This record gives sequence, structure tokens and C-alpha cells, in this order.
Amino acid sequence: MKSIERKVRATIAKYNMLKFDDRLAVAVSGGKDSVSLLHVMCKMEKDYPKASLVAVSVDEGIAGYRDEALKIAAENCKKLGVEHHIISFKQLYGFTLDEVVARVKMAGEKELTACAYCGVLRRKALNIIARNVEADKLATAHTLDDEVQTVLLNMLHGDVTRMLREKPVTDEVHPKLVPRIKPFCEIPERETALFAYVRKISFQSIICPYASEALRNEIRVFLNRMEEKHAGIKFTLFNSAQKIRPIVNYPQLKESLMDCSICGEPTTQKVCKACEFLQKLEKG
Ligand SMILES: [Zn+2]
Repeated sequence: MKSIERKVRATIAKYNMLKFDDRLAVAVSGGKDSVSLLHVMCKMEKDYPKASLVAVSVDEGIAGYRDEALKIAAENCKKLGVEHHIISFKQLYGFTLDEVVARVKMAGEKELTACAYCGVLRRKALNIIARNVEADKLATAHTLDDEVQTVLLNMLHGDVTRMLREKPVTDEVHPKLVPRIKPFCEIPERETALFAYVRKISFQSIICPYASEALRNEIRVFLNRMEEKHAGIKFTLFNSAQKIRPIVNYPQLKESLMDCSICGEPTTQKVCKACEFLQKLEKG
């Protein structure tokens, strides 16, 4: 299984993801992709004496699911001798995701799913914890599969700006925003799974009880079927998205970020999406 490590090194070089002295925070959920990423990055980090690595996790507060995943994440960190920091929705927002879902249900809201709330709240939490541990970069374990699913998903939602924004390396646009990198963005999910199995890495395999992204699942099935018939099609789609970005002159689309008037975190609106959600929840 040398190949995945070689591929990740190539990806990091290709997109200029890291500097030799970066302090890297790896987002670890406890799932196979993120735990595999932690193992790969940990090994690589040893080649760079001036670099450092730390694992960060978000506890969304999903009883019977995240608690177990965090245990697995912690075990892996211990084994690898990596510092592990956890931030929870409860301490940060006053609600666990379970409580958010209960409130949303009570309010009878149908528009937004648990995933929509969780995605926004988790994104903010990850940025805060990465900043708290003084990381220069934040690595997430999005695979080639995740990336191409997102490309199609955003296209099908008509959200072109978002499609352009989701890149292997985010632009550094705000001093409070820790730049994100995706070292697995060209690694098919099948390979990260194989890596975890071959290396006998422990990971959580149960699916989140709130997983409900119906359209993404249909896209996943579609892409896997296409890949079987036309090998390489996922890469082609991924590369198409990379080619579109410079053509549409992405920098002009880049919204200028300001500080949220409530929490002070970087946002494109006056009030950030997370605070908007929380205000709604508090009002019931
Ligand atoms: Zn805010």
C-alpha cells in the first residue's frame, strides 16, 4: 500500500498544499477516510522536522454514533502519538445536534435537514478548533468520490459559485480562516478503504443516523456505475471542474469576507449562517 502515500505526496506537491514548516491540523471524525488520512499524514510529517501535526475532532452530539467514533479517533491518535483536540457543538453553541434536530422537528421545519444544520455548524467548529491549536492549515479527508459528488450536486442545485469555491486548497481570504486542504482529493474512496483494511486501522463503519442526503446517494450510485463502465470517468469529471475555475475567472466571484456581527467569525453576510441558525433555534 505504498501507492496511496505516493499519490498523496504527489497531490500535495501538485496543489502546493503544504510548506515544510506548517503546523497541520487533521480533521478526524473516526471514519475510514479521516483515520486513513491521519495515518498517511503522520508518516509524511516525520520527513519534515520543522513541521508539526495535531488531530482535531468535532463532537456534534449524536448519541450512540459520534461518541463511539471519537473513541476510535482517540485510540488512533494515541497509537500514533498525536495530540488530539475535541470541540463540541454543546460547548460552542449550547446545543448538541440531537437537540438541534429535536427543536427543528418541534418547529415543524421541513426545508432544512439535519445535514444542512450540521454541515454549517461543523464547518465553523472545525475552523475555530484549527485556529485554537494554531494550525497553519486544516486537512480534511474528502476523497475523489466526495469531490466529484459535490461537483455534480452543486451543478444539480444550480449553485455554481459553490462549485467554484470547493477546491483542493481554499483561498486564504481572511486572517481568521484557517486554509483548508484536501490531500485525498485525487484518491478514490475504494483505495482509502483498502488502505484502512490492509493496515488493520480501526475506524467507525456505521452510518450517521441522520444521513439523509438522498440526492448525493443517487449521484454516488450513478458515478460508481459510470466508473465501472468507463474507467477514469471520476477523474475526468474532477479535472473538468479544475479547468472551469480559471476560465470563469474565479477571483472575481470571490466574495469579500467580513466579521459576523454576532460571533465575529468570518462570513459573507452580516450574520454568519451558524448564528442565523442558532437565532432561529433559540426563538423556537
Ligand atoms: Zn456568527
